Formats: sequence, structure tokens, C-alpha cells
Amino acid sequence: MTTDLKRSFDVEIVASRARARSASLRYTPGGKFVLSVPAGTPEKWVQEFLLARRGWMEKTLQKAERLAGLRRITEGAVIETGYYSLQVFADANLRYPQYRVVRDNKERNSIFHLAPEFFLAENAEKLYLHLEKYLLSQLVKFGSAALLERARYWADLHKIEVKDFFVRVQKSRLGYCTFDDRIMLNGRLLFASQRLQDYVICHELAHTKHKNHSKRFWAYLEKLFPGAKAADKLLRDSAAYSMRTSPRPAATPLLKERGSRRRNSVSRPSSGEGAGG
Ligand SMILES: [Zn+2]
Repeated sequence: MTTDLKRSFDVEIVASRARARSASLRYTPGGKFVLSVPAGTPEKWVQEFLLARRGWMEKTLQKAERLAGLRRITEGAVIETGYYSLQVFADANLRYPQYRVVRDNKERNSIFHLAPEFFLAENAEKLYLHLEKYLLSQLVKFGSAALLERARYWADLHKIEVKDFFVRVQKSRLGYCTFDDRIMLNGRLLFASQRLQDYVICHELAHTKHKNHSKRFWAYLEKLFPGAKAADKLLRDSAAYSMRTSPRPAATPLLKERGSRRRNSVSRPSSGEGAGG
């Protein structure tokens, strides 16, 4: 007797409507698979179908777990970027969804005191998005100048005239170049490595000459930024421009309340870190 793969993988079988003739298997967030099959499909066939896709199901589950782990923020975690850092603590005096922020803009860090329920698995995503939004606002505030300086550096290096560089926060586009050569850089780039920031800057600079993605555009971009295609591929990994967490055990707060002196200085991460490497 072989194992029942429906059970070992939590597969829900859905008999599809009238004339459907093919089967399809998909993963749904929360760890479940849904297998749609034509009505009346024999059990033996279902088991064989799942057996053939066992490897794919295992990989899919592993990937989902890895992603969930990456986004899970534990109590005491410190989230550091080059321009701002956050530390999170559970505070039993707060009722979910209450929180309290103690910030020290001079030192560029904040402590979040959060209702303990924020650290439950079912609220992990909410907490992550909440902190990411806050951190992004601080990054734009404190990091934009450096990003713009970097952009001007590349423009000068390649002697490209740009009317204006500016920083905005957008959902999808990391940058664009207007018809009259004004270049937007997405504030989310401040989450990415220096190399990816440089790539996006050069990509937009190349658009001052070619307002398309033709072969000539890529050839020109390759001159401005050798390895452009590879960098472009890295950008497809959305984690390159979202908040990355590196949980640490609960420790001394980065800053003390009421303006007393901080314990640790916040250093910038090395430039070769993370997805950009
Ligand atoms: Zn483009």
C-alpha cells in the first residue's frame, strides 16, 4: 500500500464541471494544494497524478516556508538598512493592534513597542507590511539625497545630460525617464544593494538616448553598465527592493527612551549584501 498523497500533502480534490477533460494542480497560500479533475476520475489515477508531481509539491512547500520565514519578524529583531534601523519589542501593556514608536531621528533608528499579538504567526504578514511601510518612509526621508547623488555621479561619469532626478515611491516601476529626460527613481531602491541601485540609474540614463528597449538600447546600456542583463535578471527577484529581516534574539534597545544615550551605533551594511551580490 502506498501512502495517500492527498493526506501527506493536504490536497483538496475538486471535481470540475461537466465537460472539463484535463486535470490541474495548484498551490494555494496557507499550504494547501487544489487538484481539479474531471468528475468521476478514478482514485488510482489521482494518486498516480500526484505521485508524478510529488517533487514539484515538495519544492513548492519548501519555497513557501522559506518565504514565510524570511518575512517573519520575531520579538527583539533588529532591521537594519544603510539609512535607518528598526527594533521591535512586545509590550504586554498594549492591546492588539496598538503600538507605540520611540524614534531618534538623529541616530536614525526607531523602537516599535507592539501588542504581543503582533508576533503571532497569523499576524506576521501584517506586522511585516506595517514595518516595511514605516521603514520605507524613513528611508526616503534620510536616503534620498544619497540616491540622487549617486545618480548624478553616473550621469557625470558618462556625460549624460539629465534635466532632473527625483525620488518617488511606487508599487511597480523602479524608475522611468520622461520624454524630456527627467528621471524618477523609486524610493524602494533604498532597500536594494548598491549594485542594483546603480543598474537602475544606468538603465534610466540609457533611456535618455533610446526611449525603448530595443537592441540598440541594450547595447548602449551595456556600455554604461557592463553586466546589465544579469543585473536586470536579479531585479526580477522582488526581495531585492523590499525590507529584509534578520531576526536576532532580544537584546539591548538601540536607543533608550527619553533621550538618554544610545548603546549601539548603527552602522551601514556592507555594500555587497543580499540580492545584489
Ligand atoms: Zn526601461
